[in-house]
Amino acid sequence: MAKASDRQALRTEEYACCTRVRAREMESIARDYLSFPVIKKVVCPTCKFVLPINVYTREEAQAWQPS
Ligand SMILES: [Zn+2]
Repeated sequence: MAKASDRQALRTEEYACCTRVRAREMESIARDYLSFPVIKKVVCPTCKFVLPINVYTREEAQAWQPS
């Protein structure tokens, strides 16, 4: 049985605030990055969730849509 604190630590779903951060990252990667893959982590300023950003091609960044 997971404790609430464990769920927080292991949270994998993104909130709406994180989706906005990811959308901005994807836009910036599609526009500004010259070499791929782009592997980085971005902290959501709203909820402090660490978003893993793994983009292997520019097309992938351009095609990304919030789910
Ligand atoms: Zn967030």
